[in-house]
Amino acid sequence: MIFNKSESMTSPVSLQAYNTFHIDASAGRLEMIVETSRLKDIIAGGQPFHIIGGGSNILLTDDIPGLVLVNRLRGYEMVDKTPDHITVRVASGERWHDFVLWSLSMGYGGLENLSLIPGTVGAAPIQNIGAYGVEVKDIIVAVHALDMETGEEVTLRAEECRFGYRDSIFKREAKGQYFIIAVDFRLTLRNHRIVDDYWAIKEWLAAHHISAPDIRDISKAVIQIRSSKLPDPEVLGNAGSFFKNVEVDKEKMKALGLRFPEIKAFEMPNGNFKIPTGWLIDQCGWKGRRIGEAGCHKDQALVLVNHGKASGREILRLAKAIQADVEERFGLMIEPEVNIWP
Ligand SMILES: Cc1cc2nc3c(=O)[nH]c(=O)nc-3n(C[C@H](O)[C@H](O)[C@H](O)COP(=O)(O)OP(=O)(O)OC[C@H]3O[C@@H](n4cnc5c(N)ncnc54)[C@H](O)[C@@H]3O)c2cc1C
Repeated sequence: MIFNKSESMTSPVSLQAYNTFHIDASAGRLEMIVETSRLKDIIAGGQPFHIIGGGSNILLTDDIPGLVLVNRLRGYEMVDKTPDHITVRVASGERWHDFVLWSLSMGYGGLENLSLIPGTVGAAPIQNIGAYGVEVKDIIVAVHALDMETGEEVTLRAEECRFGYRDSIFKREAKGQYFIIAVDFRLTLRNHRIVDDYWAIKEWLAAHHISAPDIRDISKAVIQIRSSKLPDPEVLGNAGSFFKNVEVDKEKMKALGLRFPEIKAFEMPNGNFKIPTGWLIDQCGWKGRRIGEAGCHKDQALVLVNHGKASGREILRLAKAIQADVEERFGLMIEPEVNIWP
């Protein structure tokens, strides 16, 4: 579908092409946002709306009767440069992976471990996207947004965003308060910090006889590992990891270890333990199973998939059945990472 500047479609519009689960829910009205001035007009008009970037972290469980805005704000701007760093302001509607590729082509470091994550730049701070030992909070300097009540432009410094594991102020206190219009990232110009401690990256580097990887090698490794492990949403609808990993304190971990000696867990810098939810789901026998058109991926238990014509409610039903089984067996409540709409 090709849209021209500020083009909008009126009722009802299928959202199937705008969410990576490919759920065929509809919107009352859909508008592509290519200019912040138009966004300000919409906010001033007082009509409520939903925001979609790449639609790779939402599950549509019903039609959206009102307005849906699809973010297509574009542009890059350099805002600061020192001998070691560059700060770049990127419009929120830019595709995340395009930004990663652009930064690599310029020789800028910091984004390589986050290669091939779907979605837009503006959604990255919302759940503090992370992969292969790096979280986007490590490179964000500030987030620029429009306040959805007043239409005023605000800037939140990284410290004000309260970033946590797949979490930020935008999922909590400020949920629904801002339309993120741009993000400032501080990237390295030299002395890049190479993060290669994930076993899959180590294995890839060893297989390619690379002992001193640069940022491009890391990106290449991540792209190849991700492509071989994760289902392509264009082929099999999904939103990546459906659930977050579980964090427990030392005491709880000890108790779980006594009951389930084979349990997998990783100690975190704060002394807590992270338990891979994929492993918990797999232990409950869900990997590869399906309920109708909704399924748990055959290789990645954390990824729920649309085998064809699943509705959002079918996927949600499957997610709830998995949650209930994990809770019954391990006494752990697993939390969705995906935003469930409406
Ligand atoms: C195959 C696959 C692999 C993935 N791998 C990873 C991974 O490794 N790590 C990871 O962290 N995530 C991963 N994800 C999840 C997803 O890619 C990220 O969460 C991404 O940042 C979502 O971007 P989006 O533009 O698609 O957001 P959407 O799905 O469009 O939106 C997500 C939420 O953010 C809100 N939102 C979007 N844009 C704005 C804005 N400009 N202002 C205010 N609110 C906004 C929406 O309203 C919605 O609530 C994966 C997803 C898929 C499909």
